[in-house]
Amino acid sequence: MGLLALGTPLEWPEAKKAAHQVRQWGIKQLLEIWNKAKGKERDAMLWGDEIEYLVVTFSKDEPKVRLSLRQAEILDALSKCPDLANGESVSDAKDKKVDRRDERDQHEPAAKRRRVHGDDLSSIPAAPPDKPGTLKPDHPKPVFHPEFGRFMLEATPGKPWGIDFKELLDVEPDMRLRRKIAKKHMRPDEFPITLTTFPRIGCPGDFTDPYYPPSGPRLRSQFVPDEIANPHIRFPTLAANIRWRRGRKVQVNVPVFHDKNTPTPWKDPTVNYDLHNWPEDDDVRTGGAAPDDFIHMDAMAFGMGSCCLQITFQAKNIIEGRRMYDQLSPLGPIMLALTAATPIYKGFLANTDVRWNQISRAVDCRTPEELGEKPLKNDRWRIPKSRYASNSTYISTDSRLRPEYLDPNLVVDEDIKAQLIQGGMDDRLATHFAHLFIRDPIVVFQEDLEELDLNKTDHFENLQSTNWQHMRFKPPPADNSIGWRVEFRPMEIQVTDFENAAFSVFMVLVTRVILSFDLNFYIPITKVDENMERAHAVDAVLNQRFYFRKNPFPGRHSHVNNGHANNAPSSSSSSSRPGSRPPSRPPTPVGPVEDEYTEMTVDDIINGCDNDTHTFPGLIPLVESYLDSVNVDVQTRCALDAYLRLISMRASGRLVTAARWIRGFVDAHPAYRHDSVVGEEVQKDLIAAVVAVGERELELEGEGEGKGKGFANMGVPGLGRLLGSFRGGCGDDET
Ligand code: ADP
Ligand code: MG
Ligand code: MG
Ligand code: MG
Ligand code: MG
Ligand code: MG
Repeated sequence: MGLLALGTPLEWPEAKKAAHQVRQWGIKQLLEIWNKAKGKERDAMLWGDEIEYLVVTFSKDEPKVRLSLRQAEILDALSKCPDLANGESVSDAKDKKVDRRDERDQHEPAAKRRRVHGDDLSSIPAAPPDKPGTLKPDHPKPVFHPEFGRFMLEATPGKPWGIDFKELLDVEPDMRLRRKIAKKHMRPDEFPITLTTFPRIGCPGDFTDPYYPPSGPRLRSQFVPDEIANPHIRFPTLAANIRWRRGRKVQVNVPVFHDKNTPTPWKDPTVNYDLHNWPEDDDVRTGGAAPDDFIHMDAMAFGMGSCCLQITFQAKNIIEGRRMYDQLSPLGPIMLALTAATPIYKGFLANTDVRWNQISRAVDCRTPEELGEKPLKNDRWRIPKSRYASNSTYISTDSRLRPEYLDPNLVVDEDIKAQLIQGGMDDRLATHFAHLFIRDPIVVFQEDLEELDLNKTDHFENLQSTNWQHMRFKPPPADNSIGWRVEFRPMEIQVTDFENAAFSVFMVLVTRVILSFDLNFYIPITKVDENMERAHAVDAVLNQRFYFRKNPFPGRHSHVNNGHANNAPSSSSSSSRPGSRPPSRPPTPVGPVEDEYTEMTVDDIINGCDNDTHTFPGLIPLVESYLDSVNVDVQTRCALDAYLRLISMRASGRLVTAARWIRGFVDAHPAYRHDSVVGEEVQKDLIAAVVAVGERELELEGEGEGKGKGFANMGVPGLGRLLGSFRGGCGDDET
């Protein structure tokens, strides 16, 4: 079976013709699952994280570090463990693990999912059972997944995390275990690292191992070879059809950071204006694809090759899921700024700190008509955003959702919306999906067009999973075996598992606070978009202000009647415990929406503020008062406090973001000439530092306090400013 089972992907002109059918079938599948699952109740409060890695080659004596393209071999090695899940044969697992993952994977019941399990129970350190954060021997083994880049891996916990506070302390050791298992299945000179991007991806020369020359028929990039993408036919087809639909290559342009020796204007010296391999080579000559003062990139791999940290929450029912989706949405840009980790592209310092817009541009399939560059003739509408972008809808039935918060210019497919409403869906949720369904499916397999199967969600997922917004509302799978889920997608991956655990656990606690205290973070959704842009600025965490709601407390909300929630039950105040809610302010009369929010710093939002212009309680103080109100044992509380302090100190600037740490590292490097160029030598030393930190983390695993082996004394420049001397327990604040 093997390749046959993968199906025949349609080239763009044929896929385009099938788009209507795929959307129609997708909507039917959505209605099917919606009708089955809308009344689901009491699903458990589960959640799970996703960690993405770059696989790099590094050895002390080799002057260069490279991206290792051995994803398939590494996943294969991981799958060849004796206790592969479900008794699948290795070859089955191998075929499945690359087979159209995005359409199906997330919505299949756990028992049927293709997974690649680590084999490494023996490596779980035995430790006293009462030591928090020590994995039990029966801890479920992590799962490894392929990713777009052939140099990437993704790993998730073996099963979602539960509601127990103690379990929050398993997250960090589990992340370390994933790193350890991944490493064990690599060559000695390969390492899984959690940097968002490889600094010199796309630079002239051999930045991959093995080397392939750039320019293949799929990407048509002048910087990266087609072989940089996962070879499963889905991925090159995705990249090729996005380019084909657009009518030119993607343009991933990032403003260069002007250092004291950087020429003005700056012209990207790596752009070749003289190539004649593909018609798209004209893009830089006549299409203005490579403007002055921008680092120019031209392929999906520059965006989708970035690593992030994602968290998925299961809600107890659809109402709670819709509420979580809305309330977490305004936090997206704040958490993006706070996790900033992406200051380098293609060997140059960028004048932005995060990956988001680059991914957005790397998969922007909009045509010139949709972009507003040409009058509408063949396309149906102008579309203001890429299919990878901040989300454009609020979906909750919460009566506090004022119509003014919604985007007045939202593009929806009215026909699809009418079908959804006809099928029984309420106006607001129908609007959300009818907005996602303005897009074309990009990868369509011939075989899937033969018969509509309402016991699947493949056509629905085709559209849903290629709408990469910063929140994703995930309906249950076709068999309705799990609940409604909400995914929080904006965060950048952090260098250490300590940080990745801290941000994951923080988001879990924030979500609990939101539900418990019935918090209200609504601001107009277009302000969330604006915040997303602001989050890109260098050191946005310190220098930018973000629109944020002044009063997050519930107050009285029956006074707002938005007239949209007719079809849906009213909001529930769910899991609040008696006495756990802070005193709400007296109800304020409905005023102009503009009076409800103001501009705050990340520090104001995270740590709280009380100044001349505004007061805000702060997410961390809210989490703390929540933790005070529930039963958490001292050890657990102490470990959670370390996470909260890390985040608090990042927000206040007492510790720096990964982006700032990397900038400092480059700036202080003797080989850096203050001309924005991040050369081989600097890159090697940066990767060496990151590898060393990763190895140190593994040493720390299972170790007691006070052995002097923290991150602080490693001799890596600036590490104390990034991590303080946190070691996952109650340590000192800073070095
Ligand atoms: P995707 O890549 O589509 O976002 P993944 O399958 O990679 O989805 O996993 C997303 C995360 O969701 C994982 O951490 C997984 O453990 C978690 N997860 C799986 N099932 C549930 C569930 N029922 N509730 C909450 N989280 C879940
Ligand atoms: Mg995933
Ligand atoms: Mg996925
Ligand atoms: Mg992923
Ligand atoms: Mg995900
Ligand atoms: Mg200097």
